[in-house]
Amino acid sequence: MEKLIITVAPTGSIPQKKDTPHVPVTVEEIVTCALRCEDEGASIVHIHIRDEDENPSDDPRIFHEIVNRIRERSNLIVQVSTGGRAGTDLESRIQRLKMRPEMASLTTGSVNFPNSAYVNPPDLIEALAEEMHRLEIKPEMEIFDLSMINNAVTLADRKLANRPLHFNFVMGLRGAMPAKIEHLVHLSSGIPAESTWTVSGIAAAQLAMGIHAVLMGGHVRVGLEDNIFYKKGELATNERLVERIVRLSKELGREVATPDEARKILGLVPNKNDKKNG
Ligand code: MG
Repeated sequence: MEKLIITVAPTGSIPQKKDTPHVPVTVEEIVTCALRCEDEGASIVHIHIRDEDENPSDDPRIFHEIVNRIRERSNLIVQVSTGGRAGTDLESRIQRLKMRPEMASLTTGSVNFPNSAYVNPPDLIEALAEEMHRLEIKPEMEIFDLSMINNAVTLADRKLANRPLHFNFVMGLRGAMPAKIEHLVHLSSGIPAESTWTVSGIAAAQLAMGIHAVLMGGHVRVGLEDNIFYKKGELATNERLVERIVRLSKELGREVATPDEARKILGLVPNKNDKKNG
């Protein structure tokens, strides 16, 4: 089985310091956390940013500062979120692609979140895909629903995304797909054969879905964006969540990929802006 790629999603849009003191929200906190998670075994960092009040932000200067500092000080694959909770207009989402992160998230459909609708109309998905394709940024297709797999494959058919595709199955979010192994089997067998996939289990499902993915040959995302608890009643840190999945994966006989090994598995174009890979 190929090595396990671990993505850490340290911040997200939701948790604030009042929920857990361990969520990194400032530039310094996010960069420091990313570097520590690389030391623990993460190879991709999924970036959301916050403003001074900890609310989701789309400020391109903050994105640039975080991405540049992580690039300078680590070998991590930086994956920028193009999620819309910090503003839904295309211009604000597309702006952050100009710094050419190696990867960016792309949600290929709309879904209801617990308290809001996450709206991604076809023209916006297409424009984001087109810009990622032009800048040689690999999209991670964010799959909240079976239909989104089909939409992602259609982008590849229309030459708006390169094959092999990479999918992230988001499972256990209220309003979307339940976190059940039978659904994960169905999803992972429904993508084109050459594709790679990872799973993001929400809340308590993070560990269980992650372990399923380790055994099935998929990859795993952990982090406070999706889950703030280490176990019931005990808050997690991003570092501990990475350390745990590394430990369990090795225990189950599956080695963990370095960032460069992850680049090979994902077929990433060597990033021209990244000195370490130039
Ligand atoms: Mg996200």
